[in-house]
Amino acid sequence: MMLNYKFNRRYGLPGAQASEFAGPAVADSGLLRKRMTRQLQARGISDSDVLSAMRTVPRHLFVQEALAAQAYEDAPLPIGYGQSISQPYIVALMSELLQVKPGMRVLEIGTGSGYQAAILAALGCIVFTVEYLRDLYRNARDLLRSLGVGAVYPHLGDGTLGLPDAAPFDRIIVTACGPKIPRPLIDQLDENGILLIPTGSPTRQSLKCLRKTGGRPDLEDLESVAFVDLVGAYGR
Ligand code: SAH
Repeated sequence: MMLNYKFNRRYGLPGAQASEFAGPAVADSGLLRKRMTRQLQARGISDSDVLSAMRTVPRHLFVQEALAAQAYEDAPLPIGYGQSISQPYIVALMSELLQVKPGMRVLEIGTGSGYQAAILAALGCIVFTVEYLRDLYRNARDLLRSLGVGAVYPHLGDGTLGLPDAAPFDRIIVTACGPKIPRPLIDQLDENGILLIPTGSPTRQSLKCLRKTGGRPDLEDLESVAFVDLVGAYGR
């Protein structure tokens, strides 16, 4: 059954358009998000802005309608074309590790469903997001637009090349895994910037955090993760 889902929260920059969206009915999605947020807190997410963004963005609209009922479980879900939306914990963890502030310019590689981009916009960032697959790019662009997510700029292309015209970025987040950190992304990271990226083989990946200080990259190995392949010129 389809119900009118009224979504009129304001996102991103002041002046973002509120809009109405007819999406799948998920009874009490607000309650499900509250429960999801409590579980994230129990797993160690403590940034109150991140928790409130996770409580606000209707994740069930970013997954296929048949999977909407599972959208608030802590699991990745398929979004078609062999790709997946990360589990809520990983989205929250990466958002927390990025240490964003409102107004920061953030580059995301791997738009996928657009959910991570919507979370970053809810945190007040200006989000440039790049997707390689045309259908996913189109779906995410249209969904973000219909939700009135103001400060997200979707691009179609090979994100391992970055977006030279929009660089430099305060933060860069890569949500797919390649063998190494693409050089263009390091170059397009601003001084004092943070780049979060999983690297490794398809079966052994770890999340890396690169900080740029005094022009020098400083790399920290965080935890083991599981992402889909990063393809492209500097990918697999
Ligand atoms: N952040 C997404 C999940 C991404 S899944 C979300 O919130 O839903 C990883 C995505 O990266 C896939 O959609 C895949 O097509 C895309 N991808 C892989 N290699 C890429 C590249 N070189 N440039 C841009 N996107 C890429």
